[in-house]
Amino acid sequence: MRETDQEIMAKDKAGYLPVFNRYEIVLDHGEGAYVWDHNGKKYLDFLGGIAVNVLGHNHPALVKAVSEQAGKMLHCSNLYYTQPQADAADKLARLSGLEEAKVFFGNSGAEANEGAIKLARKFAHAKDPEKSQIITAWMSFHGRTLATLTATGQPHYQEGVGPLPEGFDYVHYNDIAELESMMSDKTCAVMLETIQGEGGVYPPNPGYLQKVRELCDKHGALLIFDEIQAGIGRSGKFFAYDKYGVKPDIVTLAKGLAGGVPIGAFVARGEVAKAMKPGDHGTTFGGNPLACAAANVVLDTVPKAEFLGQIEKVGGYFKQQLVKLQEKFPSLIKEVRGEGLILGAELSKDNIGRDIVNDCLAEGVIINCTVGKVLRFIPPLIITEEHVDEVIGALEKVLPKYN
Ligand code: PLP
Repeated sequence: MRETDQEIMAKDKAGYLPVFNRYEIVLDHGEGAYVWDHNGKKYLDFLGGIAVNVLGHNHPALVKAVSEQAGKMLHCSNLYYTQPQADAADKLARLSGLEEAKVFFGNSGAEANEGAIKLARKFAHAKDPEKSQIITAWMSFHGRTLATLTATGQPHYQEGVGPLPEGFDYVHYNDIAELESMMSDKTCAVMLETIQGEGGVYPPNPGYLQKVRELCDKHGALLIFDEIQAGIGRSGKFFAYDKYGVKPDIVTLAKGLAGGVPIGAFVARGEVAKAMKPGDHGTTFGGNPLACAAANVVLDTVPKAEFLGQIEKVGGYFKQQLVKLQEKFPSLIKEVRGEGLILGAELSKDNIGRDIVNDCLAEGVIINCTVGKVLRFIPPLIITEEHVDEVIGALEKVLPKYN
């Protein structure tokens, strides 16, 4: 017999490690930009599984590819070649525009970053065993493994789990002078989100990433871009770095890369990738045929000019509408930021974000709030202007109470 929402939530609370502050709904299925809860209530999904469901829910080509691959072979060891993995690596390497790029597939964003950090250290240590310093940004987010939560410049993620891996230092994102003062020939890598996501949706200032690149070149340090949230077309370019005209040495991806099937990847330019030899890195599941079959659909769809053009167009319209909302609620919305379909509206008041998100849920719209005060919009990349109007309509209803 079908369990009630209350029964499902009680069972989950009894059995699942309580690390998530969950909303009190049980989601059941989705179609395009919409999801339905267990009681049949429909929600417009402007979170997309936190930037994962790039093609929306129940996308026919994705469902077909995953179903067909499941019927052929779900998994085989990385000790063997498979067509889906070879295809996905080839497509990603070409798209990256990095010279003689090599791709490694893992299962998550944290694992992608962990691999990128390992590769950077291997590359640097071959020249100088003390060239270990990894510089990241305050308010960054890079994952939850020990190395990636140390890379994450938000100390609350690091509390109580030390000792932490050594060699990480932090600078303020967009502050080039601080980065310059922190770097030396002992800097192994600078690792930045091309657009900061969890930290509150902060795009780079004009020219910032170019200057970071120059400093890395000066000190023989690698530049790692974490595009786990901002990549896969979300900025309007497949790789957000192409928006800013700056190539990294290593880029990491995950989230939307397989449209909802777990995956992670790092892509490195050939000279850097050579630092890893057989046996230096690995994974059981990473890049298995199921995940790669899904990734191939995303990699065949998102990079197309019309698809990316539509992201720019809808994203531009969405940003305009958010700015208009700010004009209506000037004492409530402090700033609207972002690119394409990674947008944020910073609230002037602390601690109302979660209530606004809950009120939007009641209106049938899923949004998210990060750092307690930035409403964040990272919807499926297939949304239309009508979907944007629906979200703005819900916010117009919800916000007056908080004004
Ligand atoms: N890097 C960035 C920029 C992210 O936004 C996230 C997740 O939110 C991660 C890394 C970690 O990814 P995962 O949760 O798949 O380990």
